[in-house]
Amino acid sequence: MKNTYTNKTSICIRTGLAVALIMAFTFCANAQKHVRKELQFPDFDNYKTLKCDFHTHTVFSDGRVWPTIRIIEAWKEGLDAIAISDHIEYQPHKDDVSTDYSRPYEIARSTAHTYGITLIKSAELTHGEPPGHFNALFLKEIAPLKKSDYKEAVKAAIDQGAFVFWNHPGWKQPGHKSVWYDEQEILFTNGWTHGIETVNGYTYYPKAHKWCMEKNLAIIGNSDVHLPISMDYDFAKGEHRPMTLVFAKDQSQNSIKEALFARRTAVYWENKLIGNKKFLKPIFKKSIEITPEIISLRPGNDTYIRIHNRCELDFILTANGNAGEVSGPGHITLPAGKTVLARIKCNKDIDKEREKAALPYRVENLLVAPDTGLEVNLELNVKINP
Ligand SMILES: [Zn+2]
Ligand SMILES: [Zn+2]
Repeated sequence: MKNTYTNKTSICIRTGLAVALIMAFTFCANAQKHVRKELQFPDFDNYKTLKCDFHTHTVFSDGRVWPTIRIIEAWKEGLDAIAISDHIEYQPHKDDVSTDYSRPYEIARSTAHTYGITLIKSAELTHGEPPGHFNALFLKEIAPLKKSDYKEAVKAAIDQGAFVFWNHPGWKQPGHKSVWYDEQEILFTNGWTHGIETVNGYTYYPKAHKWCMEKNLAIIGNSDVHLPISMDYDFAKGEHRPMTLVFAKDQSQNSIKEALFARRTAVYWENKLIGNKKFLKPIFKKSIEITPEIISLRPGNDTYIRIHNRCELDFILTANGNAGEVSGPGHITLPAGKTVLARIKCNKDIDKEREKAALPYRVENLLVAPDTGLEVNLELNVKINP
């Protein structure tokens, strides 16, 4: 009897241990999967550079994932804020899920809190083109936006203090040509359009970029993801979803809203940033570090500098304008997170008293207008040795 009892106890203990080990292993494996990529964009002027996607879908419209998954995906990819913006007028899964427009937000809210993602209550107004689709952010209630007339629908969002932007302008047109219809003009002159998607998924809309510049609208870039994000972007190849960088005081809804209405945005798309030079310039400047701190130059001789790029982007530089007393290579690529050695030339008739020199470049992938790179100076502290 005693033996049997001991054996049973021992079996129980061993089984218990095995279960605990399996659980610990499973937990560790799961914990390991919960790893976030931190995207490297500098903060500047007392603003935090927030990474946001204001256009995503779930099974509550024509998306293929549950709302909580959108939060986890965003967290893993290094985002700070997202909007779940299911279509109001298109709910193809309505036989299987609730048609209450607030459900995706309510379902995802506690997961967003756990992961520290700011979740913005939103919806996509899905009217035919013109005027096309619009996203409304920071909604209190979504149901009042369900109107057959597009103006009444947008007005219902505006009445709630929403930030409204025009989505994928021209997606139905051949060659994705964007058209500023009369309907666009009506909404714009009413003050009911605050931004335009300059990038939606894989598509860049240069006309939208121009309109944002001309009409002082926020430049927005979003994924408009419907599938699981990893089915649209190959992370192993370094791909990422397009996103809107928002320069905000902090990560709260109020600060993001304030920054959007103040048009403090840029778009991170492929290996490019798209936005106003007043934002792209400090991002570039704070990303670059040149050593040595003081560069010793001898007239007529070459020397070397090291340029470190701490940004998420590879910067692609082309020499811009006339080489002055000091000049660098015609082209330099500064890979993300790496340091490049560059040879610089010093003219023999350089001013001997000079303490500063600037190398003028154009950063081809920081787009301040369509096909227009940001002009920068690589500033050097120099000491001239005769
Ligand atoms: Zn749409
Ligand atoms: Zn959409």
